[in-house]
Amino acid sequence: NGSEEEAESPKTSEKNQTREIYSIVFVTAEAAPYSKTGGLGDVCGSLPIALAAHGHRVMVISPRYLNGVSDENFAHAFDTGKRIKVPCFGGEHEVGFFHEFRAGVDWVFVDHISYHRPGNPYGDAHGAFRDNQFRFTILCYAACEAPLILELGGYTYGQKCLFLVNDWHAGLVSVLLGAKYRPHGVYRDARCILVIHNLAHQGVEPATTYQNLGLPPEWYGALEWVFPTWARTHALDKGEAVNILKGAIVTADRIATVSQGYSWEVTTAEGGHGLNELLSSRKAVLNGITNGIDVNDWNPANDKYIPFHYTVDDFSGKAQCKAALQKELGLAIRPECPLIGFIGRLDYQKGVDLITMAVPELMQEDVQLVMLGSGDRGTEEWMRSAESMYKEKFRGWVGFNVPISHRITAGCDILLMPSRFEPCGLNQLYAMRYATIPVVHGTGGLRDTVVNFDPFANEGRGSGTGWAFSPLTKESMLWALRLAILTFKEHKSSWEGLMKRAMSRDFTWDNAAAQYEQIIKWAFADPPYVR
Ligand code: ADP
Repeated sequence: NGSEEEAESPKTSEKNQTREIYSIVFVTAEAAPYSKTGGLGDVCGSLPIALAAHGHRVMVISPRYLNGVSDENFAHAFDTGKRIKVPCFGGEHEVGFFHEFRAGVDWVFVDHISYHRPGNPYGDAHGAFRDNQFRFTILCYAACEAPLILELGGYTYGQKCLFLVNDWHAGLVSVLLGAKYRPHGVYRDARCILVIHNLAHQGVEPATTYQNLGLPPEWYGALEWVFPTWARTHALDKGEAVNILKGAIVTADRIATVSQGYSWEVTTAEGGHGLNELLSSRKAVLNGITNGIDVNDWNPANDKYIPFHYTVDDFSGKAQCKAALQKELGLAIRPECPLIGFIGRLDYQKGVDLITMAVPELMQEDVQLVMLGSGDRGTEEWMRSAESMYKEKFRGWVGFNVPISHRITAGCDILLMPSRFEPCGLNQLYAMRYATIPVVHGTGGLRDTVVNFDPFANEGRGSGTGWAFSPLTKESMLWALRLAILTFKEHKSSWEGLMKRAMSRDFTWDNAAAQYEQIIKWAFADPPYVR
């Protein structure tokens, strides 16, 4: 069951065996709709519901962020009255637990004053919060205690649970189980799966911060990290650091990435962000499981954020959504002009630099382009200036705005995603569900999910759901975009075929949930990796 191989579908294995019911504890920095800055929030907001629908007992633990803007999200989560004192960072820090039972899942929110401040889960306009290591350390300690002390629906989750820890913020859970609990006979029957949504963020801090984590000194090696020479700041710098994600990689019972393609990429020097060798060494327990999407939230037949609705049998609502979007953006209402969209973090990862380079050429075509995103200040500025330079054709929307992201997804003809790397990517999945044709860089989850258009396949009826270009250059991106534009303008029936195939893909969580069940089963089949 190595990384290249898809987890066996329990639908087939189930026939011979009775199904196990698991107690699953998700630990995450974000979970939609309570908190979200990207795909991590979407996944931790919907995969737990899918697993609960399969009969499992599922808890999701994340911080109770009160930022003064979206506090309403937590309005239905009530104080359980339970408090614990977390021994770390030179003191004891009291945290509380709030709880809401919704959609079959126990949503548990860890309450601490360091989660009550303006901004998103990780930072504000001035950058990342400086105490993030502390904020996520207390999350991990609280997450380890929750299954033991919280009586949800009358009884606790208990020691035989499966921790599903997401990205570095939750990674310390895996270390704590081995370092703090199992030596005292607790959690010997628990297992821990690390899910990597983005390897670029690892929770790296100076080595001197190790003593703050409250771990025994002999566990230093698990987190020890040495920067390569080129990344050190001065001649005397020995590059010593602690790396929380690394600690999780070397202690978790199993590891999953959010697509199959990415599970291979993380073992390569190009995609491994310095952790490729370690991940290769754990290849036997590494799987890729492609994310699903919340098909209720993202449903063109009844989406509350879009003005008209449509289905695969009748696209007229999509044409109306396009006209409404053009109107909203102050662009000419022209059904025949391809409308291209981009949604995402303005970040090097997302390849926005390629878009800024390509726009002068792209604007010579008969197209309209709308970009929604926030992040890199320079790109935000560029969007504003491009808007005044290409008044007839370009709109840049700086900010994070969920309703507008739905209207762009529905109203555009083409969605552009030139990501440098993409662990899974959700926008291309949303786009396909809304019959918006993705043009993507063929990497990671994008390559796994977007099937290249072939007009000649199926006896001339065509196959594929978009374009995946490679290599990552301005030229190859423009080449793919021009093919898409040409097909849209000149080959109506081909375009309709693309829309129908894209929209008919199965994006539900069901399949992914079944694969998660499989790896959970494998995790319990072996003794704990760290005893
Ligand atoms: P990542 O997690 O790397 O940011 P994904 O494609 O996995 O990328 O998920 C991004 C999620 O965040 C999608 O749900 C996308 O619609 C949403 N998103 C990103 N930027 C914005 C924005 N500016 N406004 C609204 N939603 C956004």
